[in-house]
Amino acid sequence: MSGRGPQPRFLTGKTRLAGVIGWPVAHSRSPRLHGYWLAERGIDGAYLPLPVPPDSIAAVLRALPLAGFRGVNVTLPHKAAALAAADRATPEARRIGAANTLVFDEAGRIEARNTDGYGFLENLREGAPGWRAAAGPAVVIGAGGAARALLVALLDAGAPEIRLVNRTAARAAALAAEIGGAIRPWAWAKRTEALAEAALLVNATTQGMGGEPALDLPLDRLPATAVVNDIVYTPLETPLLAAARRRGNRAVDGLGMLLHQARPGFAAWFGVEPEVTPALRAFLLEPPKAP
Ligand code: NAP
Repeated sequence: MSGRGPQPRFLTGKTRLAGVIGWPVAHSRSPRLHGYWLAERGIDGAYLPLPVPPDSIAAVLRALPLAGFRGVNVTLPHKAAALAAADRATPEARRIGAANTLVFDEAGRIEARNTDGYGFLENLREGAPGWRAAAGPAVVIGAGGAARALLVALLDAGAPEIRLVNRTAARAAALAAEIGGAIRPWAWAKRTEALAEAALLVNATTQGMGGEPALDLPLDRLPATAVVNDIVYTPLETPLLAAARRRGNRAVDGLGMLLHQARPGFAAWFGVEPEVTPALRAFLLEPPKAP
């Protein structure tokens, strides 16, 4: 090839392989994210979207290390199945009850990790410098899959109390009982009262996502010092974050959680610590160009 025109990139038998397993997986931003870091660092690696239906997940996970993969991210609906299929798991992944990152060793054994809580805390620390979990009660709205990692992370970071507000009360009660510690299930009808004296408010529901209504939560009782975080990141500025900013609260969007949760997996598979930078955020927010 001359120096002009596009340079083809060839994968070889030495190329380090990783990917993301989901069903469906086409919507995942992880290939774009890891692809950015691979190109930025000039690493001979590839990160592939791997669509795997639920009835094949255990067999595919066993086969991937044999086919040379270093590990994978796991997204819906496989996070609990991935934990069950692993040979060992970090204590955090066990307490959360789900894995989002698998690391394969040379013997083909699977280690399950969960880095969602790490990503959540890193994003808060970056977006609201000086914020500390110990500063006061945290209010978590939502008790679905994503809330599990948030609760474990906040407890471990020293939150004195977590008020867990969910539309379906039984789900919040069950999750609080399962995870234990200072989690107080809180009635949906009394959700505005949960905000009194809070140091942190997090939306972990699907409300505020594109196509969904805004989270129905008046902020009148929230102290002006509280940090507000929405883990929804499409759109980046949800109605909750806009309302928080209007009344002077510090507001942190959810994109950084996605970016930071990816760092430990990339480091384990490709041997390089990647960075979350403004240029990476901008790249992830651009509409993908046709190849
Ligand atoms: P999920 O397991 O389906 O849970 C959905 C939650 O939303 C439940 O608590 C549900 O309450 C609540 N909800 C749904 N409709 C509601 C309504 N009309 N009013 C009040 N509450 C309602 O979803 P998930 O996997 O936890 O994901 C939640 C959100 O987090 C999604 O938007 C997802 O994109 C986002 N997320 C972001 C990141 C990131 O890296 N930033 C990572 C993971 C997830 P019920 O129990 O009453 O149904």
